[in-house]
Amino acid sequence: MLYWSARISDESAKHSQHMLIKGAVQLSQDYLSKQQTGVVIWEDAYHIVNAAEPDESWIYANMTHWLFQNHGFTKSVLIGRDFQVQNIYAYNHSNRWMTQDLLDDLSPAVAKVRARYITSFQRTPSGLFRYTPKNHEAQRSIAETGVVSVNGDPYLFSAAAIVPRVLSITQERVPPVTLVSLAPLRGGKLKDISEMSHLDGFVLADTQSDRSGVGQYQLRSPRGKNVGIIAWQTYLPGSQMLDRIHPFLAFAAFMIAAVVIAVTVFTRQMTKRLAKSESQAVHTARHDALSGLPNRTRFHALLNDTLEQSFEDGTNTAVVYIDLDHFKDINDTLGHSAGDKVIVAVGQRLRRVIPESGIVARISGDEFAMVIKDCKSDEWLEYILDQVQDEIGRPIMIGQRELFASLSMGTAIAPRDGNDPDELLRKADIALYDAKANGRSRRSFFEPNMEQQVQSKDKLSRELRRALNNDELDLAYQPQSDTDARQIVSVEALARWTKADGTIVSPSVFIPVAEESGLINDLGLWILNKACAKAHDWPGMVVSVNVSPNQFKHPRFVEKVLAILSANNLPPQRLEIEVTESVFAGRNDSVLKALRRLKNLGVKVALDDFGSGYSSLSYLRRFPFDTLKIDRDFVSDMNGNPEAEAILVSIIQLGKALGMTVVAEGIETVEQFRFLQAHECHRLQGYFISRPLNENDLTTFLDTFQYVGSAGFDAKTGYPPRLAKG
Ligand code: C2E
Ligand code: CA
Ligand code: CA
Repeated sequence: MLYWSARISDESAKHSQHMLIKGAVQLSQDYLSKQQTGVVIWEDAYHIVNAAEPDESWIYANMTHWLFQNHGFTKSVLIGRDFQVQNIYAYNHSNRWMTQDLLDDLSPAVAKVRARYITSFQRTPSGLFRYTPKNHEAQRSIAETGVVSVNGDPYLFSAAAIVPRVLSITQERVPPVTLVSLAPLRGGKLKDISEMSHLDGFVLADTQSDRSGVGQYQLRSPRGKNVGIIAWQTYLPGSQMLDRIHPFLAFAAFMIAAVVIAVTVFTRQMTKRLAKSESQAVHTARHDALSGLPNRTRFHALLNDTLEQSFEDGTNTAVVYIDLDHFKDINDTLGHSAGDKVIVAVGQRLRRVIPESGIVARISGDEFAMVIKDCKSDEWLEYILDQVQDEIGRPIMIGQRELFASLSMGTAIAPRDGNDPDELLRKADIALYDAKANGRSRRSFFEPNMEQQVQSKDKLSRELRRALNNDELDLAYQPQSDTDARQIVSVEALARWTKADGTIVSPSVFIPVAEESGLINDLGLWILNKACAKAHDWPGMVVSVNVSPNQFKHPRFVEKVLAILSANNLPPQRLEIEVTESVFAGRNDSVLKALRRLKNLGVKVALDDFGSGYSSLSYLRRFPFDTLKIDRDFVSDMNGNPEAEAILVSIIQLGKALGMTVVAEGIETVEQFRFLQAHECHRLQGYFISRPLNENDLTTFLDTFQYVGSAGFDAKTGYPPRLAKG
């Protein structure tokens, strides 16, 4: 646009300059003819030039020389009545300037002048002609002006008839003598034109040039011959403006180019990145980043396809939901990178062990799912699942460490349990829940009654809340004897719930429900309060109370324990708190602080189920427990198993070495009892000593035990004395 408008303005400037020159040339010519007038409208001149013998010296002195001296007409020529050159005058060069060519050039102008003169005669009725002179102005207008080339130089000329000033009557109409006066354009005249037009750099040139900064005005003779060219330095406002704004324009163009390049590059990169992230997103959307296995979404789609196919083929498809046991503990105690390695290892092993046609996916954190196609029988499926468990059971190496993973599995089978993927997954999940609750076989096949159990979980938590408010809950107390079973030294309080309709709900069922629903805080305090209150009935006895990890999350837990102790007026030394190592999960220092405060106050702290978790030993370093309770699996595994026995002995020695009271629980047989006694385990607990008892039975038991206890062992059975009905 800018270049275009600059060009337009240049063009129009050129045009107006051209017009200006044209006007200025015309003006100079008019001026010349005006100057010439003074000598051509003159009686004397008329008579002299028309005389038979014209007085040349008079003409010279009064006309041509006068014109030269006063007005710069350097050349003059008189053309006679007969149209022939009458005389030639020149004032700075030789007289040889007149050529036939020039004469030819001038003749159209001379002819016009003559014609005009003749037409100013009018025939009178007498037959004579009357000549009426025109006034000066009109006379000048009948002069002819123009440009001619004299020896290659442009000259302005004016041609006029020499006429009388006054009216005259003549006998005939005769043509006039014509005076043609010439003044060179070069020099003064050109300067005048330059000044008139206010343009610079005037030169006379012979030929055209097509340079843009050069303005040109063509001078033509009356016959149209090229006489020369007035050239000048054109004033081009458009170009000038462009020149001025060029740097800005260049800068702007550069900026625009830079912006365009930047935008292009940016867009390219974004497009590339977008394409890349799109393909990544597709992969991520379908696969789990850690294990590389399909994720939940992908699994769903694959399952859908499989089910459609198996529906057509009429085959059975098994959907297996898998959950890693204690994965949270691995993560919390060994760190997330160890957890990640376990996930990867488990994913690989699952993939390896199931049939090629099967599908393995990672559903979430520690959850996997499998699809096993074409299951001809439950036995075959069980065989596969056994293989899975064996494979996962092999140690996983994490650095130098050997880790043992185990998993729980829930299975639903299409079409038996349904054909819809969602329904099958839900049922497999229910079976998994059942497997975990069972804790033994660690795998379950879906059965319709399981569904009710799951639904009842939610119901259970509402019932539990009501039970707590309605005093449906109670505590049982399980005695612990000293090493030689002569004395009961402590009791473990265990929560009991008997519903109004008489059904008994196990604490292994309702304690996790209470933990999930948050009810554990209220329930836990209720248990603590009840146990502390009852402790007065059994003087000297230490009361052990199980405390859930969740209870430590309560910021005022320690204060509440203190309040309960003081409300019941119980010395802290008579209260023992049992915690499992999961209390350390999450590396929460506030738990350690709470435990330390309790210990400093005199409350005993026991580590329950020692050896069942992942890094039990490290906890012994982190907190100085008063009591170590050996997990009852070690005791039940013991029977004649030298390795289990060796572990038991080592734990007892370890506890002793650390100055702790060692407790063995779950003692059921005399062999177990004797063995632990022989290795001087400090406290003994189990059905062999006594089952958990209600408060009245415990009181009776303690009385009887003390009595029989002093009498020694039963002679017949060799058993220690205990309440028959317990
Ligand atoms: P735990 O703390 O390890 O409690 C010992 C469990 O072993 C009790 O089961 C007890 O009845 C059982 N037991 C005792 N002697 C024997 C034996 O010789 N053989 C066998 N097989 N079992 C024996 P219970 O009462 O069903 O409690 C189960 C778990 O529920 C407890 O395990 C504890 O973790 C939790 N629990 C019970 N009461 C409470 C409570 O008041 N608060 C909290 N937080 N948890 C509790
Ligand atoms: Ca316990
Ligand atoms: Ca225990």
